[in-house]
Amino acid sequence: MAHDTVIIGAGHNGLTAAFYLAKAGRKPLVLERRAIVGGCATSEEFAPGYRSATLAHTIGPLRPAIVSDMQLERRGVRFVRPDPRIVAPSGDGRTLVFSIDPGRTTEAIRPFSAKDAAKYAEFSGALSRAGGFLSSLVDMTPPSIDAPSKSELWELLKTGRRFRALGRKESFALLRWGPMAVADLAAEWFETDLLQAVVAARAIYGTAMGPWSAGTGAILLLGAAIDPVPGGSSITVAGGPGVLTRAMADAAREAGAEIRTGADVRQINVKDGAAASVTLSDGTEIAAKTIVSGADPRRTFLGLIDPVELEPGFITRIRNYRVPGTVAKANFALGGLPSFTGLAGQAAANLQGRVHIGPGIDYLERAFDASKYGEMSAAPYLDITFPSIHDASMAPAGRHVMSVHVQYVPFARRDGSWDGAEDAIAGTVLKTLEQYAPGVTALVEHRQGITPHALEQEFGLTGGHIHHGELALDQLFTMRPTLGWASYRTPIDGLFLCGSGTHPGNGLTGASGRNAAREVLKALPRTARA
Ligand SMILES: Cc1cc2nc3c(=O)[nH]c(=O)nc-3n(C[C@H](O)[C@H](O)[C@H](O)COP(=O)(O)OP(=O)(O)OC[C@H]3O[C@@H](n4cnc5c(N)ncnc54)[C@H](O)[C@@H]3O)c2cc1C
Repeated sequence: MAHDTVIIGAGHNGLTAAFYLAKAGRKPLVLERRAIVGGCATSEEFAPGYRSATLAHTIGPLRPAIVSDMQLERRGVRFVRPDPRIVAPSGDGRTLVFSIDPGRTTEAIRPFSAKDAAKYAEFSGALSRAGGFLSSLVDMTPPSIDAPSKSELWELLKTGRRFRALGRKESFALLRWGPMAVADLAAEWFETDLLQAVVAARAIYGTAMGPWSAGTGAILLLGAAIDPVPGGSSITVAGGPGVLTRAMADAAREAGAEIRTGADVRQINVKDGAAASVTLSDGTEIAAKTIVSGADPRRTFLGLIDPVELEPGFITRIRNYRVPGTVAKANFALGGLPSFTGLAGQAAANLQGRVHIGPGIDYLERAFDASKYGEMSAAPYLDITFPSIHDASMAPAGRHVMSVHVQYVPFARRDGSWDGAEDAIAGTVLKTLEQYAPGVTALVEHRQGITPHALEQEFGLTGGHIHHGELALDQLFTMRPTLGWASYRTPIDGLFLCGSGTHPGNGLTGASGRNAAREVLKALPRTARA
């Protein structure tokens, strides 16, 4: 089959872009270096008979239009909206339970603080209205600051109107929250340390920032734009994210895309300032006038393109694009579900969503502190799920898998060595968890530790950064990945970006892939479109 477009990487964004481009009549070829599709969103066997969500374990959520356009539910994807969505042990024997129903959550907060219980509905409402306004920005191409086009000006005008419609109080709050430290923001609303920590955790997830870092308020808002529920809805997919990305690949193929795995792109070749072809590691050259990279911006521009094709100023800006990974992953095969102190009732019913380990703002900040000096936190912030609860086939009968997001494990280690780090990560997780779920270590049959270094080497994430680059005020929206190039286009004609290093770049939403496909189609001459 002749291809007019090459897409680098079969992560969920590359697959989304492939689907929309194929739907529009293009003939995309997706080239993926790993043996399977999905990028950071896979479900793989890590011990005989045990499969886990290898890296990501909850789903963005994916933009609803993508779910319906790709007909993901018809393809067998079962999205799970767990209830409870979060359980957060305090470490003193009590646990705060966040339900889907805000009324039940309020009642769960009451024993901790009647004042906080009274404030919860108001906070949920404020976050939801802010998220509602920001949601429209997720699906738009950030406008050019220098020379906005007519349609960009029109979009900006509409955004301005929606902003005004928020009203004085809410619009002022939105402007004020962004630059704030999320710790201050949470403390303005609530007095319970544990509640503050759960609210704040979404603003630091995957970043090299702690709750006291300025600008984490903006990351909270970015999260609210895709899911405005305090702490998050914890949506997942039965069978893990691999089920989702396999279905996305099927949708892209059915629309007309071809997907090749085991195809590592070594170079993007440029001719007369325009994309011309890619060369694979085995020397194969594949010609295409449109190339869409789902790899991160640093890897794309500094790893795959001859520097002579880019202006030194642009190269400097990409070098300055920050990718300080702070996350490790651990997967455990368990003989049974652990029991958390303070959680009455059936473990399987209680543990459907996420378990948040990070009982206070200072705990989270201390966990971050260690990473600033190149060390792994001795008491890390953990975000845990049990994927086998939603799909029993992920573990042998009666057994379970536990998926643990571990933060902070800095990519830039003080002693520079990763020897033995996998075991150290798994060991630290268990030592930490013993305080909340005594006996958990005795349940462990197999363990897998995935370091930030492995995230770079095996999964292609430069700096081990789970978002393809820091989510921070200076790297968002019109500045993602860099000012002047936030429109998915690049200084090389015909070369586009579609991965998480572009707006909005905030987990498994598919928005970057969909927005990029729209820009690719816009850039094509009318005759080249369907
Ligand atoms: C440990 C971890 C935990 C996370 N937890 C969550 C979570 O719970 N919820 C959530 O919503 N998000 C989570 N995320 C973030 C989320 O997974 C990512 O934001 C998302 O998967 C990025 O998708 P993508 O398609 O942009 O890129 P990727 O998934 O990174 O895909 C890029 C693809 O490009 C391929 N590639 C790179 N270079 C080349 C090349 N030269 N040639 C060919 N192929 C190439 C890679 O192999 C990869 O398959 C997590 C990420 C990690 C790492």
